[in-house]
Amino acid sequence: MARIVMKFGGTSMAGTERIRRVANIVRRQQAAGHEVAVVVSAMAGETDRLVNFCREANPLYDPAEYDVVVASGEQVTSGLLALTLQSLGCKARSWLGWQMPIQTIEAHAKARIDCIDAPEVVASMQRGEIAVIPGFQGISEDGRITTLGRGGSDTSAVAVAAALKADRCDIYTDVDGVYTTDPRIVAKARKQKAVTYEEMLELASVGAKVLQTRSVGLAMKEGVRVQVLSSFIDDDATPADELPGTLIVSDEEMEEILKDSDMERQHVTGIAHDKNEAKIILTRVPDKPGAVAHIFQPLAQASINVDMIIQNVGRDKGETDVTFTVPQADLPRAQALLEDKRSDIGFNRIITDDHIAKISVVGVGMKSHAGVASTMFKALADRGINIQAITTSEIKVSVLIDEDETELAVRVLHTAYGLDAEDEAA
Ligand code: ADP
Ligand code: ASP
Ligand code: MG
Repeated sequence: MARIVMKFGGTSMAGTERIRRVANIVRRQQAAGHEVAVVVSAMAGETDRLVNFCREANPLYDPAEYDVVVASGEQVTSGLLALTLQSLGCKARSWLGWQMPIQTIEAHAKARIDCIDAPEVVASMQRGEIAVIPGFQGISEDGRITTLGRGGSDTSAVAVAAALKADRCDIYTDVDGVYTTDPRIVAKARKQKAVTYEEMLELASVGAKVLQTRSVGLAMKEGVRVQVLSSFIDDDATPADELPGTLIVSDEEMEEILKDSDMERQHVTGIAHDKNEAKIILTRVPDKPGAVAHIFQPLAQASINVDMIIQNVGRDKGETDVTFTVPQADLPRAQALLEDKRSDIGFNRIITDDHIAKISVVGVGMKSHAGVASTMFKALADRGINIQAITTSEIKVSVLIDEDETELAVRVLHTAYGLDAEDEAA
């Protein structure tokens, strides 16, 4: 007997008919002899709807009240799943964030889980009850509802799996695993048997939203065994215990898997895109020590994450242009802050562009193979795609391009790195 945490995302929970299918998958998992806890998302589109209500009610909304509103989507689906499981003859009950409890820090709308100590939930599972836990939500030290940031149910699931010392955390979604790139963009994307924590962390952080970045970091830290798999399956589908999806594994385990399957490690594991950044150019910044610090200090103080940075060649003596990217949602704030500091920084013009996309290639194989970046630049150049900025890390190369060229760039790179599936387009 194992203890399994099963997480179902928004499309899997979209409506009572889908919830019935989820309940069947959960029932089968329990019938295979396991203790089961389920973490659920709100129905697809529901959180967006609730966020819009908050914006309409008060554009400068109080994050604590925002959390009260947006956390409600998961309360609905957890109750509905418990009811549906009961209708199938299973023992099940919901455990809301404050009941479990899932303690978080107080940062509303982007809270981090502090600790989950849930002896009652464990006792209930040991009595054969299925625990149904709303994802995305927790409770702050002062007893108020918090949420974990968009896509946060993945993190709830991994945190619950770590706290319950689960044998596996199965993340059920609308694709049957982690692919070499978003299968909705590239029909020839290939499903991966396994991806390392390190690669998945990079992929998620540069836009592969199949897992929330924080959930991968937590799984890596806590050594949680994660499988990504589809909830859109028939009754005769391969059981989750036989690992039909993609496993997120340590580097050592990856070596074993490669050895067993007689496969070679690819230099590039995956390609991701992100359309949620915006570019800012400050022209004619004084080219002297401290100038760049004057730009980035106020942004850091306002918790605005700066991603790519280029300092262009000085146009005139003693002056230079500085280009960087920030999350699109933070662009108005960043612009206002920079205008405010205009005299300290001493720039001439501020030019912004949110019609951009970041394309990234990721792979542990890059550590030992040169030429990954040049393949990328050549493939994009051959299709006339202009690169506006570049950043690299040990296992990643990212470029900034025009948003209209996103799909083309991802497809071209997928082919250039030899990742296309043979014939049988997915
Ligand atoms: P859920 O609602 O289940 O949390 P998400 O929409 O958050 O699902 O994540 C699943 C989606 O992630 C897929 O539908 C797919 O379009 C997208 N995706 C992006 N990159 C990848 C990738 N490399 N492999 C698989 N799916 C990906
Ligand atoms: N419902 C939340 C969201 O849409 C959390 C999640 O689905 O992971 O962001
Ligand atoms: Mg998700």
